[in-house]
Amino acid sequence: MSRVFHRSLRQSYPTAVAGEGPYIIDSDGRRYLDACGGAAVSCLGHSATEVIEAVQQQVQQLAYAHSSFFTTEPMEQLAEFLIDRAPEGLESVYFVSGGSEAVEAALKLARQYFTEIGQPQRRHLIARRQSYHGNTLGALATGGNLWRRAQFEPLLTGVSHVSPCYAYRERLTGESDDDFSTRLAKELEDEILRLGADEVMAFVAEPVVGATLGAVPPVAGYFRKVREVCDRYGVLLILDEVMCGMGRTGTLFAVEQEGISPDITTIAKGLGAGYQPIGATLVSGKIYRAIEEGSGFFQHGHTYIGHATACAAALAVQRTIEEKQLLARVRELGAGLEARLRERFGAHPHIGDIRGRGLFLGLELVRDRDTRVAFDPALKLHAVIKKAAMANGLMCYPMGGTIDGQRGDHILLAPPFILEEFHLDEVVDKLDTAIGSALKTVC
Ligand code: PLP
Repeated sequence: MSRVFHRSLRQSYPTAVAGEGPYIIDSDGRRYLDACGGAAVSCLGHSATEVIEAVQQQVQQLAYAHSSFFTTEPMEQLAEFLIDRAPEGLESVYFVSGGSEAVEAALKLARQYFTEIGQPQRRHLIARRQSYHGNTLGALATGGNLWRRAQFEPLLTGVSHVSPCYAYRERLTGESDDDFSTRLAKELEDEILRLGADEVMAFVAEPVVGATLGAVPPVAGYFRKVREVCDRYGVLLILDEVMCGMGRTGTLFAVEQEGISPDITTIAKGLGAGYQPIGATLVSGKIYRAIEEGSGFFQHGHTYIGHATACAAALAVQRTIEEKQLLARVRELGAGLEARLRERFGAHPHIGDIRGRGLFLGLELVRDRDTRVAFDPALKLHAVIKKAAMANGLMCYPMGGTIDGQRGDHILLAPPFILEEFHLDEVVDKLDTAIGSALKTVC
C-alpha cells in the first residue's frame, strides 16, 4: 500500500527529481520531454530562472497574508497586468488556487449578479456535452463528460448540456461553417427557451476544448453567434480558458481569435506555469458594479485567495512571456508542430483528425478512418499510448472522451513555449514510436 494516495492505485510512478528546460528528469536519471506541459501547465518549461527568483524573493519578503486582512503588491500588480491585456469589458480579477476553484467562483459570481440585480429566478446553467470544467462538484456538474460524471451523478446539480462545436463528429455532411454554427446557436437558443428565457443564468464553454477532446477549436463565427443568443436573453457568457488560455493558442486569451468578449473568464494552468498553483476569474465591469452597488460583498472565499507567492510567480511568468515575445514563438512553433504532425500522421490509417491552435494540438485515434468508428473503450488505447510514450522518454496527455456514450481516444500536445525546432522532431518521432507500439497491442 502506498502512503501517498495516488490517482491510480495500481500504477507505480517514476520519481521526478529535477527539471531542465522542457525536460523532467527522474531519480534514475531518465529524461522525459514534456510535450504536454503536464496538463497544459508548464508553458515556460521547468527551470525558468526569472520565475524561480521571483518566488524566492517573495517568500523571503512575505509568505502569506490572508485576503480578508490585506491586499499585496504582487496581487495588485498581477490584476493590473491581466486586465490591461484582457478582452474588452473584463475589469476585475478574483484570484484562486486552480482551475476548478476559478470555475466555482465564476458560477457563484453569475448567480450572485442576478440576485443583486433582482432576478433571483435566473438559476439554470447550460454547458456543452464532452466538456470538462473541473472536478469540484459545481465544476463537475457543469462539465458534460459522461465518464468523469458517472459515479458522482447523484451529487451533481442539474445543468443542461448542448452539442459541442466539434466539427469532426458533429458537423453534418456538406454543412458549411456558417450552417453548422447557426445550427448549434439555434440549439442553444432552443434550450434557453425550453428552460425559460428569463430563468437561465449562464452558458459555459471552453473557447478551444482541451481535457475531453484534445484541442478542438470552434469553427469560424460560432462564438459570435453564441454571444448574440446570450445577449438576446440576458444570459451571461462564461468562457473557461483554464487550459486554452494564457498564450497556449498563440494569443494571451484564446477568445481574442473569436472577436467577442465574455462576461466572465476563468484562467489557471499557464498563468503560473506550474511554478505555483494559481487560477483566476476575470469579471466584467457590469458584474463588478452590480455587486459593488448592491451588497458590496462577494459571498465566497478560500484560505489561499490571492496568495502572494503564487501571484509573484504568475507575474514573473507573464512578464517573461511578454519580454521574450513568446506568443509569436507559440504561433511559429505551433505551425511547425502541426505541419510535422500532418506530414507524419496525415495518412495514418488510425489517426482520424489532427487539430488545434498554436501549441495546443490534438490527435484523434480511430479504428477506421473512413467510418470514424472509435476503438473499443475497454482497450484504453490512449492509456497504452501514454505508457509507451513514457517508456520512450516522452510525456503526452492522453484522454478518452465520450462519443455518443462510447469513449474515443485522443492525444493532446501542449508543450512549453520555449522549445527549439529540434524538439519538434523529437516530439513527433517519439510519438510515432509510441503510437506504433501501442497499436500493435490492440490491432
Ligand atoms: N477547466 C478546464 C477547461 C480544464 O481543462 C481544467 C483542468 O483540466 C479545469 C477547469 C480544472 O482545473 P484544475 O485541475 O486546476 O482544478
